[in-house]
Amino acid sequence: MTVTPLRPTNRGTSVHALLADGTTVLIRPAGPRDLDALRTLFAGLSPESARMRFFASGSGPGQAAAQRLSRPDPDRIALLAIACRGMDDEAGGSEAAGESEAAGEEIIGEAEAWRLNNSDTAEVGFTVAEGRRGRGVGTLLLEHLADAARAQGIRRFVAETLSDNVAMKRVIASAGLKHATGYEHSGTVFHDIDLDEDDAYLDVLADREFRASAASLEPLFRPRSIAVIGAGRQIGGVGRAILDHLIESGFDSNTESSPSASPTANTGSDSPSPSSSPNTSTKANQDSHSKAEPTPAPTHHLYAVNPAADAIAGVPCARSIAALPRPVDLAVLALPADALVGAAIACGRHGVRALVVVTSAVPAATSAALKAVSRRYGMRLVGPNCLGVAAFGDGGAFDAAFDATFAAHAPRAGAVGIAVQSGGVGIAVLERLAALGMGASSFVSLGDKADVSGNDLLAWWAADAGTRMVLLHLESFGNPRKFARYARRVARTKPVLIVEAGRSEAGSRAAASHTAAAVTPAVTRRALFRQAGVIATRSTGELVETAALLDAQPLPAGRRVAVVSNAGGVGVLAADACVEAGLTVAEFGDGLRQRLQALLGPGAAVANPVDAGAGAGADALREAVAAVCASGEVDAVLVLPVPTALADLRSTLADGPLPGPVPLALVRVDQGIGLDFLTTGAGERIPVYAGAPGAARALGHAADYAEWLRGPRGRTPRLPGIRSDDAARIVSRYLDAHPDGGWLPPDRAADLLACYGIACARLVLARNEHTAVAAAGVWDGPVVLKAYWPELVHKSDVDGVLLGLSGEADVRAGWRLLTRRFGDRLAGVVVQETANKGVELLVGVDSDPVFGPLVGFGVGGTDTELIGGHRFALTPLTDLDADRLLAEPRAARLLAGYRGRPGADAGAVREVLARLARLAAEQPCVAEAEINPLIATPEGAVAADFRIRVEPRAAHDPYLRRLR
Ligand code: ADP
Ligand code: MG
Repeated sequence: MTVTPLRPTNRGTSVHALLADGTTVLIRPAGPRDLDALRTLFAGLSPESARMRFFASGSGPGQAAAQRLSRPDPDRIALLAIACRGMDDEAGGSEAAGESEAAGEEIIGEAEAWRLNNSDTAEVGFTVAEGRRGRGVGTLLLEHLADAARAQGIRRFVAETLSDNVAMKRVIASAGLKHATGYEHSGTVFHDIDLDEDDAYLDVLADREFRASAASLEPLFRPRSIAVIGAGRQIGGVGRAILDHLIESGFDSNTESSPSASPTANTGSDSPSPSSSPNTSTKANQDSHSKAEPTPAPTHHLYAVNPAADAIAGVPCARSIAALPRPVDLAVLALPADALVGAAIACGRHGVRALVVVTSAVPAATSAALKAVSRRYGMRLVGPNCLGVAAFGDGGAFDAAFDATFAAHAPRAGAVGIAVQSGGVGIAVLERLAALGMGASSFVSLGDKADVSGNDLLAWWAADAGTRMVLLHLESFGNPRKFARYARRVARTKPVLIVEAGRSEAGSRAAASHTAAAVTPAVTRRALFRQAGVIATRSTGELVETAALLDAQPLPAGRRVAVVSNAGGVGVLAADACVEAGLTVAEFGDGLRQRLQALLGPGAAVANPVDAGAGAGADALREAVAAVCASGEVDAVLVLPVPTALADLRSTLADGPLPGPVPLALVRVDQGIGLDFLTTGAGERIPVYAGAPGAARALGHAADYAEWLRGPRGRTPRLPGIRSDDAARIVSRYLDAHPDGGWLPPDRAADLLACYGIACARLVLARNEHTAVAAAGVWDGPVVLKAYWPELVHKSDVDGVLLGLSGEADVRAGWRLLTRRFGDRLAGVVVQETANKGVELLVGVDSDPVFGPLVGFGVGGTDTELIGGHRFALTPLTDLDADRLLAEPRAARLLAGYRGRPGADAGAVREVLARLARLAAEQPCVAEAEINPLIATPEGAVAADFRIRVEPRAAHDPYLRRLR
């Protein structure tokens, strides 16, 4: 193998990441300035710990290690985990946190990997500081060390541990990487760790990430104390409104004199009412922050901070954040924008663990500073520019419902996790849900998303027992690469519904490639959401209509739907709406038809849709509905009764249990009020829609989701022979010369594709006639000449492609033709060997603000826009995703051999799809790539024309556990 020296890359720069318990740490490479802190780390180890790390006692090895780690060394990666200041708030409280400022950084762990004899193997060692163990520091360091090492071409770690080093063995075993434990010899064990990221490893990583993200949001959703910074003494103002809402929601259990000591009726939470706690004195609860305490009465503390008051609305008020009498989990900042950063720092020093910033019109620089302060003190941050947060607990000992929003109506308690980008949409969704008697398990208005994004919340809701369904309204996700993975995970256990904001059908991006141009349409986006198991809706109305069905009714087992009405033509219209929503209006069997005829009389139309006729009584109608539901011939039933029959149907349905195992929805024919529920005597709810299209769409979404749940999951294929590190080098070399990014020259693009094992027709980028002729002479057969300059997109459109040039004379003539035609614009000429004739296809990747990299596939060639019909899939691309792409009808027909023309090797095309998807997933700086044509023959597939655009982006493994 070729050996590259270990050198600093973008990987290994400072990143923040979450430990298993949700606290934030900084991970960064060690350097000379760390010598003293490293000495302190090693000097602080117990003799036992020192023996585990160095196989020897005494302070000598530790001091030598401090020297070694802090010295730059091309053959060594040394990473440190640094405590963020909020880390010790449980133990230290406000004073300690504030004082440590002067003491410099505290290293809580180190990990090193050193390359063995120019090989692709490195030996590794770790230390976690005394008193910092059991929080996953070692595991997190191993993940980051593996990531940095992979980027340097290292494929294996080996480690030697003492056989009684249980902690280290556990870190290695639980990392999720394939590993083997070698022979035990004079008290030591050898570990051999394969750094390959397979599906199993990525699953373990995602589990850890979900758990850490969820834990980090604990202080936001289950705070034991809340302070409102900037609450006014007078009614009015956002801060005061939030304080009042917090009081109304019953969170103020520490204020005996509180004017409103009972929670509002509509919180309806089954959690113990905090204000009914017998023990509400502040002084009596000195240690409410100690989780270990058996069962003190759950007590929550609410404070205001205002320099001019001692109490506001009966809530104790501190003059400053530092003067707050105890640590605070959650601080709501309702301050002018220029006061925010100072307040956030004060909060950090005081041990606050989560911030909600409701201030609007916050400049981007202030937002960035707020995020930096939050990282430094290990706080999570919601906002700025948001409506606030509300949560209703899950009945645990420290639970309390709270409403820290300034929405006019308090959110209702329920089982829906809601995150909205804009406050207005949040209010609309909450009010529509409230009208149905549905409510939130937690509600977050994300605002500008300086830190907490939809992805974090997905992790929280995945684990939250009180959440049965997730509703999202979003413009973009914090880390789009994560969204598809996160959503796919959560959707396995609870429905995830989304209404996308700010999406126009046309899309506003300047389209520099076919892939980018084709990717925007809403149809494509819906297909992508479906691939991730996410239910994508077009309006808040559709969102709530679908949520109502999913909340109240079982999922359909298929797409067959029955339409039953006693109102004439409406049934036919409803049947059309069902077909439009992707359902099938199933034909009934003879038995069912006879039974319906018997129930409804000879005048009724008993095919599907069923028209019972105006004369059918409610009882007959009910029995007909029951017969259809129980028939086994349909997967869902839509009933449209005329108003009188609806009234009767309400009372007849109210008696019983639901008539059958399939989802049932009613549609009000009189266009009266909006969506509501009909509740049966058994407490079951049947959604009643204001119109058939809404009901049909909801059933269609439910059918899509159910189908996704039933479907197999697919696996990401193993792809041998990928050289990620060489590829990263090609990209970074280009970015060194072009810091703003751009299109790689064709020869570099070919090299990059080659790193991922994608075969390209060989080419030379010639800058003069002599080189062109020489290059053409090397290959047998005719060559292709192509004009080149960086901005040139469609070469054929400007007659810039000359095919079938044989021999020196042809090549010279071609060269001259192109130079004459394009003059000074020409930066060079691509001389390329001619690929065998075959099926011309397009394979591309493009980054999407919501989904991250997408893979596109379809028929290729020079008039792709005319051909159309391309399909897109999310990355990572599983084998099943690739199948779905390959099934695109036009391309599939060509691949199978169309009109006597020979087909092609679909397996080779699938391999290119998988490899290009891997390239996009592993190389975050690759913003866009397109192969058109990929020429597929029975023997294989060759890329004849390709373009790759790179952008300067933080280069990190998309799977690596880190905060943005
Ligand atoms: P552009 O897409 O910019 O117009 P291409 O490089 O794709 O230019 O060339 C246009 C067409 O010429 C291709 O669709 C393909 O049919 C043919 N072609 C291009 N390069 C080769 C090649 N190396 N071997 C065979 N055919 C080629
Ligand atoms: Mg082309």
